[in-house]
Amino acid sequence: MTNETSYGFDTLQIHAGARPDPATGARQVPIYQSTAYVFRDAEHAAALFNLQEVGYIYSRLTNPTVAALQERVATLEGGAGAVCCSSGHAAQIMALFPLMGPGLNIVASSRLYGGTMTQFSQTIKRFGWECTFVDFDDLKAVKAAIDENTRAVFCEAIANPGGHITDLDAISAIADDAGIPLIVDNTSATPYLCRPIEHGATLVVHSTTKYLTGNGTVTGGCVVDSGKFDWAANDKFPSLSQPEPAYHGLKFAETFGPLAFTFHGIAIGLRDLGMTMNPQAAHYSLMGIETLSLRMERHVENAKKVAAWLEQDDRIDYVTYAGLESSPYFGLVEKICPRGAGALFTVAVKGGYEACIKLVDSLEIFSHVANLGDTRSLIIHSASTTHRQLTTEQQEAAGAGPNIVRLSIGTEDADDIIADLDQALSKATA
Ligand SMILES: *Cc1c(COP(=O)(O)O)cnc(C)c1O
Repeated sequence: MTNETSYGFDTLQIHAGARPDPATGARQVPIYQSTAYVFRDAEHAAALFNLQEVGYIYSRLTNPTVAALQERVATLEGGAGAVCCSSGHAAQIMALFPLMGPGLNIVASSRLYGGTMTQFSQTIKRFGWECTFVDFDDLKAVKAAIDENTRAVFCEAIANPGGHITDLDAISAIADDAGIPLIVDNTSATPYLCRPIEHGATLVVHSTTKYLTGNGTVTGGCVVDSGKFDWAANDKFPSLSQPEPAYHGLKFAETFGPLAFTFHGIAIGLRDLGMTMNPQAAHYSLMGIETLSLRMERHVENAKKVAAWLEQDDRIDYVTYAGLESSPYFGLVEKICPRGAGALFTVAVKGGYEACIKLVDSLEIFSHVANLGDTRSLIIHSASTTHRQLTTEQQEAAGAGPNIVRLSIGTEDADDIIADLDQALSKATA
């Protein structure tokens, strides 16, 4: 495709990054199941290793199938470039790695995917990184938490597990003032519902495992760079602005401009951390993305119906779906994700922990799994699973208290989803 920017989302989700295979004319992106690529000659090899020419060397760094997915996600997000990796959690480390160092910190929302809470509160400490968790509805608190050692602000556009909407414009203004990037995990919104870069995000991370692939087949992650952040504006980001000893003193920001973060992600991140996406996973994700908008429309339509039905049911205390008029986040939907508030929300069940356990065990269409963003409707009781490593206070701050179940509404018939919830709630609250 020549002039990609003029095409609409539905066209780009099928065509961006994909061209007929130059060797065979294959219309679908081939799975390039090859570890290495033959150099034209010794000079070509040297140019590739010096980053003077872009091309394929070895599949830990780059692979043509993965490259097609990178270009497609970057295009859909409106970014300058993207790097895919082995999982959403890998993407988070890949996004932070160039920014961070011992003694430095990030400021993150207290409403995050449970695994991210654990990664940020426990594991990153081993790298000497710290994370301060704040309620991102409290803009003053976000501002106050940033200090001279803060190198990024991190949140989810539509926050897991409650489906709360983050005011990305307000948060990115705070990050801008501090001269640091805003990283947005856009997994539960997808670029069809929300484009964080348009709201001031510098980096967007994805678990492609979820809606982007959409069918629960492969794990994967992606870091998209807006290309808009000036890494050399201050001395906070030496990995990007200062000479890189492993590449003869090359300065990424100076040499690659808007693609600095993407090149760093491949040339340093994938080279040395090795959290590479394999071409099979990229293939499944490319297949899935072709129908992203169609699925997201149905996900949203079903979520609205199911949330409205649950809200009026006596066996339920409350529903957190931001697409309900009763939600305090309803006003933000129009601004942040005008095509809908996603299909992920939590429900407080009367009867607490025990009723939640009975509910998940009584459902027939819903699967009880630690996943979201599948065509299938999914449910999880976070307090006994994904959030069980957290204290009760942390669970509650994350919107995952003992009386809460998280629903990821699939693309089945809404009436069938509602009937299933109805019969299981009867058993759970009998
Ligand atoms: C699943 C998920 C992750 C982690 O992704 P993996 O692919 O499981 O590593 C991160 N953030 C959000 C919002 C998620 O839903």
